[in-house]
Amino acid sequence: MSYKILENGRVQSKGFAMLSKDAKFTPFDFTRHALGQKDILIKILYAGICHSDIHTARSEWGEATYPCVPGHEIAGEVVAVGEKVSQFKVGDYAGVGCMVNSCGECEACKQSQEQFCQRGQTIFTYNSKDIFHGGENTYGGYSNNIVVSENFAIKVPQNAPLEKVAPLLCAGITTYSPLKFSKVKEGFKVGVAGFGGLGVMAVKYALKMGASVSVFARNEKKKEEALKMGVTGFYTSTNMADIAERFDLILSTIPTFYDVSAYLDLLKFGGEFAIVGLPPHDTMPSLSVKDLVYKAGKKVYGSLIGGIKETQEMMDFSLKHAIYPETELIKPSQIDEAYEKLTNGTAKFRYVIDMRNLE
Ligand code: NDP
Ligand code: ZN
Repeated sequence: MSYKILENGRVQSKGFAMLSKDAKFTPFDFTRHALGQKDILIKILYAGICHSDIHTARSEWGEATYPCVPGHEIAGEVVAVGEKVSQFKVGDYAGVGCMVNSCGECEACKQSQEQFCQRGQTIFTYNSKDIFHGGENTYGGYSNNIVVSENFAIKVPQNAPLEKVAPLLCAGITTYSPLKFSKVKEGFKVGVAGFGGLGVMAVKYALKMGASVSVFARNEKKKEEALKMGVTGFYTSTNMADIAERFDLILSTIPTFYDVSAYLDLLKFGGEFAIVGLPPHDTMPSLSVKDLVYKAGKKVYGSLIGGIKETQEMMDFSLKHAIYPETELIKPSQIDEAYEKLTNGTAKFRYVIDMRNLE
């Protein structure tokens, strides 16, 4: 058996944690809550590294709870199911993204917008107080297993390339959702600012939806990859004022300080600027009311992951059209190095941690 249930019903787990904001990752043994009637136990096979993991683990968004086990791009195999589980069976593949529970009863939850649970009961996959399980801190996917309500698990077919599926659970849905919200279609001009883990997914989805797509990056390092994907414009933040192209939608995935207002100039009248990138609190960019008024006729909105129903829709869409992230598989011992590369500008796209051998 690939898992161990303790006498009190809790599940034995093993993962990698940061013990303080400046620490390195260290092996960490812990337990997860017992398998409830509607819960499934997933043996984690792959876990993507999202920049949100870095923001959180380094307390860039406010003080995290330590030990901190990040990871909300989880793909694995169901190894046990609660007695009332109806949508999964042992042996199925499943994915878990940024949330593991919510009240299920408010208007937002009923509309499958669980990330906006009106009772404030969205339980995030890590660094979140799980009020449904005695208020314990949640631990994420840099680990060998996870227990989750079946209502928060995404179905993944047996023939799916699991390593590539993992990043869809956050990078996929977080970019798919605003592109759908902005009703991207044939003939749209879409700009994607920040060409990393999320940016690549935004580019691929927007192209599939029929848009012509341009990328905004801070240098030309990944220009060739972008052109190969079918991108028609590639701009760097040094030549923003010279850009003549005007966009229906610009989606920002930028995780650092930047000039938000400069992007408004690049929108058509009625164009939209959608923000998903969330820089550290102490270097958070802002947008002045003056700029909004003088650069009028543009719409600015933020977007937070996506609901479970839409996440399943994104998964099905991605698999149907073979839209996958660009991934590099790493060992758990390389997580610190990956974090370094993702912050010093030497990373390519998505690192995925191989958890298959973590018994
Ligand atoms: P990555 O580190 O994979 O990618 C970020 C990319 O942005 C890199 O390619 C980086 O370039 C580029 N970049 C950095 N600064 C600039 C700049 N000033 N101008 C243009 N490009 C820039 O991060 P992720 O894609 O994983 O995440 C991106 C952001 O989205 C993070 O802040 C994350 O927390 C947030 N996020 C938000 C979610 C939501 O629901 N709203 C969900 C998931 C993530 P370089 O290659 O040079 O480093
Ligand atoms: Zn994420």
